[in-house]
Amino acid sequence: MTIDLSSLTIAKTQKHLSEKDFSVRELAESYLASIKKRDGDIHAYIETYDDAVSQAEAVDEALKRGDKASALAGIPIAVKDNILIKGRIASAGSRMLKPYRATYDASVIERLRDAGVIFLGRTNMDEFAMGSSTESSYYGATKNPLDTTRVPGGSSGGSAAAVAMHGALVSLGSDTGGSIRQPAAFCGLVGLKPTYGAVSRFGLIAMASSLDQIGPIAKTVEDAELLFNTMAFHDTRDSTSAASQMKKQSAVQRNKKPIIGVPRDLMEGDGIDDDVRKNFEDSLQILKEEGYEVRDIALPYAPYALAVYYIIMPAEVSSNLARFDGLRYGFSEKGDTLLAGYVETRGVGFGAEARRRILLGSYVLSSGYVDAYYRKADIVRASITQDFARAFEAVDIIATPTTPSPAFKIGEKISNPLSMYLSDIFTVPANIAGIPALSVPSGSVVRDGVSLPLGMQFMAPHFGEQALFSAGKDFEKILSARM
Ligand code: GLN
Repeated sequence: MTIDLSSLTIAKTQKHLSEKDFSVRELAESYLASIKKRDGDIHAYIETYDDAVSQAEAVDEALKRGDKASALAGIPIAVKDNILIKGRIASAGSRMLKPYRATYDASVIERLRDAGVIFLGRTNMDEFAMGSSTESSYYGATKNPLDTTRVPGGSSGGSAAAVAMHGALVSLGSDTGGSIRQPAAFCGLVGLKPTYGAVSRFGLIAMASSLDQIGPIAKTVEDAELLFNTMAFHDTRDSTSAASQMKKQSAVQRNKKPIIGVPRDLMEGDGIDDDVRKNFEDSLQILKEEGYEVRDIALPYAPYALAVYYIIMPAEVSSNLARFDGLRYGFSEKGDTLLAGYVETRGVGFGAEARRRILLGSYVLSSGYVDAYYRKADIVRASITQDFARAFEAVDIIATPTTPSPAFKIGEKISNPLSMYLSDIFTVPANIAGIPALSVPSGSVVRDGVSLPLGMQFMAPHFGEQALFSAGKDFEKILSARM
């Protein structure tokens, strides 16, 4: 039978599987056929796994035996190239790790494997997750399936494109400053950056350790929620994994609609597309008409979040990437001396953006500058976190657009790093404060005759994921009823 992949969600797939409309193997084969058809052009995947069909057959067998099936049993998933799967290559989109095979599973992979998902392949990404367009991958750019002249966003652009082209039902990304939410918004999908510490970072190739989180990209909020619930647990192998703090906030809010706060401070800058502003105001208006209270709030330090991010993140990048010295693993170039070997290895193995950030990070940490830059940024970071805490005393959820523009053209920003960095303006504050944030499709704008999606970002207090899911689902429902 032909399976209509575009209509599937996790719940619908489970219904079809239980009614024997198709098997897990047939489902996996449909996705592989879809990848074959489109990925030559899109390049969402760096590699698809030859054993996807045999993984699927094993799940079919287990289901036949009557093993208790999890909600994710048989669900085909794409995994960002910086999350370790034992025995498989994880290159982080870099030449440096081109031949590197993981020797263990990331904790999230262990959980998903136990739940019976099918790993279809590893997806393209900006090198070491540094970027907003997936153009800095050593393996070449990924195209946006909705308009192939445009970027899919980044750095998890391959993961978003894979789902948008129906080359996977759901996918995993990582988000340090927006890398799940921005590509989700550019590809018309849902993306969640969990609370810092909610999802284990064990087995994630580190970019900036105080900001990184793994999270889901999916077609619906419900699908993202199912993945999050499977992945979030207290992991003793990650010292920043939070002990079971998931609050039952949804219970508090079940009987009343959450109050939504709008940080006008963040909306003031130039460089925010007029259509994005209009779509955001229209979305707020719709929420008001549906009985939500929408209030302006102050986040006076939030406009500094981007500046703080571009100090703290490179500082951590320069430390984390120091391990790639050509001696232990990955790419290695010989030199006449030990130093020459390092210089050759790191000069050739890393691309331009990674080198730029290592240099910036080494600079802001160097003696004489560490107080002026890194320590100052750390102080402002605390003020931003406090801003959010204060705001959440008055409102339940904070809303912004996810991105300042719809998907931009391939090549448009790659030679201007500053303009690329500005695309993170709305997403970075949540990473700086460690709070969870969800991007949900909020409509579209037309560019060059093509309809391009936009995203609405909802942020909640630490461990407030459940509040995000219920607001996100309601927003999806309201929009689809009005279409
Ligand atoms: N676009 C941001 C950056 O370039 C975010 C990256 C990320 O979240 N991994 O740093």
